[in-house]
Amino acid sequence: MGKARVRHFVLGPIQTNVYFLVNEETKEMILVDPADNAPRILDYAKQNNLIPKAILLTHGHYDHIAALKAVKEAWQVPVYAGENEKNLLANPMMNLSGSWAGQGVTAAADTWCKDGERLSLAGFDIRVIATPGHTEGGVCYYVPAENLLFSGDTLFEGSCGRTDLPTGSMRTLVRSIKDKLFVLPDETLVLPGHEGATTIGDEKLYNYVAGM
Ligand SMILES: [Zn+2]
Repeated sequence: MGKARVRHFVLGPIQTNVYFLVNEETKEMILVDPADNAPRILDYAKQNNLIPKAILLTHGHYDHIAALKAVKEAWQVPVYAGENEKNLLANPMMNLSGSWAGQGVTAAADTWCKDGERLSLAGFDIRVIATPGHTEGGVCYYVPAENLLFSGDTLFEGSCGRTDLPTGSMRTLVRSIKDKLFVLPDETLVLPGHEGATTIGDEKLYNYVAGM
């Protein structure tokens, strides 16, 4: 890694990873998936004098967005998400906040990203990779200069996201992983939405998706 430092917390009822991508030179910071517990997120940024520049959503499931409203209100920064995730974010039954969490949450992005779009945020060049399958509009955020990939619930260490929820498709997810993630450099550090970090090289060797 060059100027990037990544800090992560595990927050919420189903242990969702929340990532802070920090530019060490400027203290500017991007938050990936405000899963839950807004006070924890806000306190960390404040205590470390970080300057929030954006909130990136990998997808719309409630366990990745529960703290979005409070964090956005506090920071007043733009929210980014995949262009095909609009409906799911806006619908508590589809984003599972209505059925699982018992309180409906809806969300929207300020910028709806297209596949292949490049974002310049906090001094980082970030590429949006649309990876439908876990949800229709799920995306990964790739930071080539830092060899980092925020993979959301698309790719986990040894497995992939479930596909039995609204807009999910196993066939599509396998294609997304093989065609769009396994083509990245082997040394790319994969930071998933749940559980531990891995690399593209390891997942090409050991993930069961590789054999599908
Ligand atoms: Zn999910």
